[in-house]
Amino acid sequence: MTKFEELGLQDSLLRAIQDMGFETPSEVQEKTIPLLLNEDVDVVALAQTGTGKTAAFGFPLIQKIDANSKTTQGLILSPTRELCLQITNELKNYSKYENINVVAIYGGASITDQARQVKRGAQIVVATPGRMQDMINRRLVDISKIEYCILDEADEMLNMGFYEDITAILSHTPDEKNTWLFSATMPREVSAIAKKFMHSPKEITVGSRNSGTDTVSHEFYAVSGRDRYLALKRLADANPDIFSVVFCRTKRDTQAVAEKLIEDGYNAAAIHGDLSQNQRDLVMKSFRSRQIQMLVATDVAARGIDVDDITHVINYQLPDEVETYTHRSGRTGRAGKSGVSIVIVTKSEMRKIKSIERKIQQKFEQKTIPSGMEICQ
Ligand code: ADP
Ligand code: MG
Repeated sequence: MTKFEELGLQDSLLRAIQDMGFETPSEVQEKTIPLLLNEDVDVVALAQTGTGKTAAFGFPLIQKIDANSKTTQGLILSPTRELCLQITNELKNYSKYENINVVAIYGGASITDQARQVKRGAQIVVATPGRMQDMINRRLVDISKIEYCILDEADEMLNMGFYEDITAILSHTPDEKNTWLFSATMPREVSAIAKKFMHSPKEITVGSRNSGTDTVSHEFYAVSGRDRYLALKRLADANPDIFSVVFCRTKRDTQAVAEKLIEDGYNAAAIHGDLSQNQRDLVMKSFRSRQIQMLVATDVAARGIDVDDITHVINYQLPDEVETYTHRSGRTGRAGKSGVSIVIVTKSEMRKIKSIERKIQQKFEQKTIPSGMEICQ
C-alpha cells in the first residue's frame, strides 16, 4: 500500500495529514497527487463522492502556492455555499503549518467583508460561481494571475446552471494556468467544459464509476402515497440512533416534512435555499454536533456536504435523475464506512428503482415498514 510519504508531499503537509488522522492515501489521491505535484498539466479526475477528492487537489495546491507572495494564485469554484465553506476549512487544516490565506467567497454573506479579506492577500480563493462573478464585476478580486484553477464537483455546478458564470469567470483567468477538474460523473456538459477550457487534459478515473458507493446498501419500502410520512416516522422509530439526511424534491416539501417531524417530537430540521445563510449555518452546526438527527434537505442544499457517520440516507421522494440518486446515497458510506440508502416509493414509481439498479449495478432489497409492535419489542 502506498503511503503519503511516497507521494512527494512536503513535511508541513505530512505533519498536517498526520494531525488529521489520515493513514493512507485514497485511490484518487494516490493517482492525482504525484501528477499534480510534478507536472504542469490539466487534469480531469473522476471519482465518486466520498473518495477524498478535496485532498486530491488540496494537498498539491497548498504545496504549489508561493506563500511569500500575496497574489491570488489558486481559484477553486464549487457549487454551493456549504461546500465552499467546507473546502475552505479543509484547506486551512491542510495548510496549518504554512502561511497561506484561504478566503471563501459565497452569496448570502457580506460582500464587503469578503472583499476586505481578499484585499489583505488571499493566495487561494474558494468561491461559488454567482458571488465570484459579482466580485469580479465590481473589481473586488483579481484572478488575472492565477496559476491553478480547480473546478470541483463540476457535474453539479453545471447541473445547477452555472455554465455561463463559469465561462465568464474563466475568461478573466490567464491562458497559461493549469485547470484541474474534479467530478463524480462525466455528463456531456462536463466534457464540453473540458474541451473548451482545458489543454489536452490527462484523465484519471478511479475504480468503476460507482466504487464509492459499494459500502452503501440500498433498500426500498413500497407504500401508498398517503403513507409516505408514516413510513418515515416508523423508520425513525425503528432506528433510535438514526443520523440521517432525508431528501425531498421541493423546498416546500422539505419545510413541511421537517415541521411535521418536529411537531411529532423528532430532532429534525430543514435545510433549503429559502433559509438565510445564517440559518443554514446554524442548521449545519446543530447537525454536525448531532443535536439534529434528521436533516430534511433539498438536493441543492445538501450537495457535497460531508458529515461523517451518516447512518441513513432517506429518499422521501425519488429524484428525477438517476445521477441525483447517486449523489444522495453518497452522503453515507463515506471513507469506507457502511451506510444504508432507503427509498420510500409508491407502486407507480417502482420502475424508477429498476433504472437506478441498472445504473448503480447494485440490487435494492425490498423491506417492509416495521409495525408499531415490532418497534416496541
Ligand atoms: P469527495 O470530495 O470525493 O466527495 P471528500 O474530499 O469530501 O470526498 O472526503 C470524504 C471524507 O473522507 C472526508 O471526511 C475526508 O476528511 C475523508 N478523507 C479524505 N481522504 C482521506 C484519507 N486519505 N484517509 C482518511 N480519510 C480521508
Ligand atoms: Mg468533493
